[in-house]
Amino acid sequence: MQEKILEIENVTVSFDGFKALNNLNFNLDVGELRVIIGPNGAGKTTFLDVITGKTKPTQGRVLFKGRNLRSLSEHQIARLGIGRKFQTPRVYLNLTPRENLELTSNRKKNIWSTLFSKPKSAERHSIAGLLETIGLTSRADIPAGLLSHGEKQRLEIGMLVAQSPDLLLVDEPVAGLTDEETENIGDLLLALAESHSILVIEHDMEFVRQIARKVTVLHQGSVLCEGNIDQVQNDPKVIEVYLGQ
Ligand code: ADP
Repeated sequence: MQEKILEIENVTVSFDGFKALNNLNFNLDVGELRVIIGPNGAGKTTFLDVITGKTKPTQGRVLFKGRNLRSLSEHQIARLGIGRKFQTPRVYLNLTPRENLELTSNRKKNIWSTLFSKPKSAERHSIAGLLETIGLTSRADIPAGLLSHGEKQRLEIGMLVAQSPDLLLVDEPVAGLTDEETENIGDLLLALAESHSILVIEHDMEFVRQIARKVTVLHQGSVLCEGNIDQVQNDPKVIEVYLGQ
């Protein structure tokens, strides 16, 4: 049987009695890239929040690599190997892409030791490789504030990868991007999927089609259906939910 990196078992999250997640069950295989879709209010953000520990389940369990995350803080969960990218890029605009990556490449380092000490050669090598992977080699030494929105998104994905997570959580990475930038992000996520497990939340169905082998549809805090993109798009339950928006 395929090893699971993430197991969500009967998870409910209640806010004053309202169930943002309602008896949710979800598994992700090691090395899998999965896209989560669902109408507004379906529970997608809360779903990521229970994985990172920002929100604790009212009921149920979240297991990462077989370990129950219940008693762990957000920080401890991140250190176990879960990295999250929010929708808006959070890069240091006055630093270059190279410096941004150096800053995040070692979680123990702080900004001062990064800026005032030279990285070791092995580290320089891996930063160069990462710049190549995210397609920013030629833009590595300009202030990140001069990058396009798509380049900033790629840089931030690189900053996540620099922290060596096993599971990447990526929230709407292509909102507001051009078609070309969208495709670049898709290619980047597919390349990263060779060595990471990845969960992506996304609305852009063209993009979902580009990257997803398997899609999970959330609705009212539960899984409505799962399958490949064609199965999901043709599922009468999914059509009804989206038409009803
Ligand atoms: P999505 O990301 O799919 O749009 P969310 O996870 O943000 O959905 O929200 C799911 C539901 O839970 C929504 O109806 C939202 O209003 C509600 N919700 C989310 N967070 C809170 C909170 N902190 N307090 C009360 N209700 C919340």
